[in-house]
Amino acid sequence: MIIVLLGPPGAGKGTQGERIAAVLGVPKIATGDVLRAAVRDGTPMGLAAKGYMDRGDLVPDAVILGIMTETLAATDDGAILDGVVRTVNQAIGLEQAVEGLGRRVDAVLVFDIDDEELVRRLSGRTVCDLTQKPFTGLEPGSPCPDGSGGILVRRADDEPDAVRHRLSVYREQTKPVIDWYCANGTNVATINAVGSLEEVEARALSALGR
Ligand code: AMP
Repeated sequence: MIIVLLGPPGAGKGTQGERIAAVLGVPKIATGDVLRAAVRDGTPMGLAAKGYMDRGDLVPDAVILGIMTETLAATDDGAILDGVVRTVNQAIGLEQAVEGLGRRVDAVLVFDIDDEELVRRLSGRTVCDLTQKPFTGLEPGSPCPDGSGGILVRRADDEPDAVRHRLSVYREQTKPVIDWYCANGTNVATINAVGSLEEVEARALSALGR
């Protein structure tokens, strides 16, 4: 099963993606995670992507299409794609990649949430510098509560100016992807992303017929 998760930054795609992936028994693929690992490792792709990411801009489609094709080819059972499709061009590229593998996008879940709640969530978010696990309401510099020995840090793109920019990039470049999938006849479901982790997960699974 290939599921595309869409929605603005901070809507909970990453957290819910993990949960849905665990229930369906398929991997979650997040281009943001792949890119952050490349930045940490100082690879040529990471060095090229870092500036775009810190500003909250989209990394060029060609880089994303490369990651997409490579990671999809390595998965047999399908995947939950978190933040992988952010432009219509990427949606077209993904369609070609999955067709080439004899598969299709089974569903698109759109996580719906208003801007005020997003800014509140992202400005209170820190991540562990070792595991990248996100936390809410804990101060940067505190020890990571996941027992990894890491320290909580704020992502550069969670600073208020970058958050505002990411939201406008989402509205201008990613929202049209929803219309593209609807016009393409793909099963698109909108999920109310406000609620407890369990409530949002139940809505997402129910949209997938689980
Ligand atoms: P995320 O962790 O999904 O919020 O992604 C962090 C950053 O990585 C984004 O703000 C972009 O700079 C970059 N990125 C991740 N996925 C994509 C994508 N599909 N297209 C373009 N840029 C991306």
